This record gives sequence, structure tokens and C-alpha cells, in this order.
Amino acid sequence: MDTNQFAHTNGFLQIAIDGPAGAGKSSVARTVAQRLGILYLDTGAMYRALTWKALRHNIDFSGPNTLTQLALDTVITFDTATGRVLCDETDVTEAIRIPQVSENVSAVAAVPGVRARLTELQRNIARACPIVLDGRDIGSVVLPQATVKIFLTADLDRRAERRQKDLREQGLHVDLRQVERDIAARDDKDSNRSTAPLRQAPDAVLIDTSNMTFEEVVEEVLALVRRVMS
Ligand code: C5P
Repeated sequence: MDTNQFAHTNGFLQIAIDGPAGAGKSSVARTVAQRLGILYLDTGAMYRALTWKALRHNIDFSGPNTLTQLALDTVITFDTATGRVLCDETDVTEAIRIPQVSENVSAVAAVPGVRARLTELQRNIARACPIVLDGRDIGSVVLPQATVKIFLTADLDRRAERRQKDLREQGLHVDLRQVERDIAARDDKDSNRSTAPLRQAPDAVLIDTSNMTFEEVVEEVLALVRRVMS
């Protein structure tokens, strides 16, 4: 094994899982973290929590300075035992999944000052313990030295079906074509912003989950981790 491999990771295992909306990153990342007995950080939840707060305070989404200040003034925490997300001590776990947040989150995430703040917080958390993070720019920007980098994707129609199922489980019935349009629009915005766009890092392993079961995806990620660690 390359002895410098962990030089920039404080010696801790860091698993970066990036990819477009609806690829199943969060469920896979959470399960991989559980099986390895390490922390899971949902970086999308941080951007969503900030968007929830901006909506709640009627903040103008076209004002980058106001959004940057909001990011600096907001405390986002995770209850590691329950997975609940807290924004300034308000439990926003369910609230950050509503369509209004999904529609606006890419605008908030495109603001360079917002990204600088959340990237700093994510790096601080990742420096302290072994961890799995999922997002859009983890392998490319947040943790370019991550031990294992994965880019998880699937065909748009498969991702839309999965997202529609998730929404249905939350009691929201949305037309499949509408879900497809929404996630395609979000991917487009996330891929075309100038700061830290959604990209596969050159050294990330691509996993196309279109024709894989959830368990197969988890096993493939764990196999990669074992290979890198041995
Ligand atoms: O992962 P999730 O779909 O919940 O992420 C919501 C949004 O947060 C993304 O569409 C993207 O705009 C933003 N995001 C980001 N960088 C990350 C994680 C999420 O820009 N690392």
C-alpha cells in the first residue's frame, strides 16, 4: 500500500460518493457507513437546510452576499444516533425534502461564498474520524485525497422512478414525467455552475446502478473499499 495514501486525510478512511440526483447516493452511503461502523455525512442535507432557512426568511435567491452571510450565521448539525438534521436547533429532517426546497437548492448551492463555508465545515468533520460523504463535489473539490472515490449514476428514467417512489413514501404523489423534468433540471444547474460543478473526479470509479439491485451496489462499494485497504 502507498504509505502516503492517507497523508491528507489525517490517516482516516474517507469514502466520497458523488453523482446526479436520484442515483441512490444517500441510501448507499448510509448503508456502507453502517456496515463499516463509521460516520455518514449527507452534504446535500446541508445545502437543503440552508435553502429551507432562506425560504423561511424570504431571502432573495439572487443575492449572493445575503446567502453567503446566511451560511456564515447558520449552525447545521446532525444527530449521529438518529440521523436527524438540525438547522439552528430546529429539526428540519422532513422539511428539507419538500419539493419547494428541491426546486431552489441548486440556486443556493451555486453561490461561491455558500460553497466555501459548507466545504470548510465538511472538511473539518471529515478530518476528525473515518467517514462516508455523499454529494456532488466531494471527490473533486472537498476531499480530493479521499481514500475511495465513487461516481454513482443511473439512467434518467430509473432515477426518476426511484425518486417518485421516495416521494410517494413521504405521501407526495408526483407525475413521473414531472419528476424526470425536475431532476434533469437540477442536474443541469448543478453541472453548469462555475464553482465546484457536478463532475466525476478523474480517479473516481464509475458505478452505473441502472440494472443493479441496492444490495449489489452496496457490495460493489464495499469490495472497492476492501481492495484499497488491503
Ligand atoms: O444530494 P441532494 O440531492 O439532497 O442535494 C441537494 C442539492 O444540494 C443538489 O442538487 C446540489 O445543488 C447541492 N449539493 C451540492 N454539493 C454537494 C451536495 C449537494 O451542490 N456536495
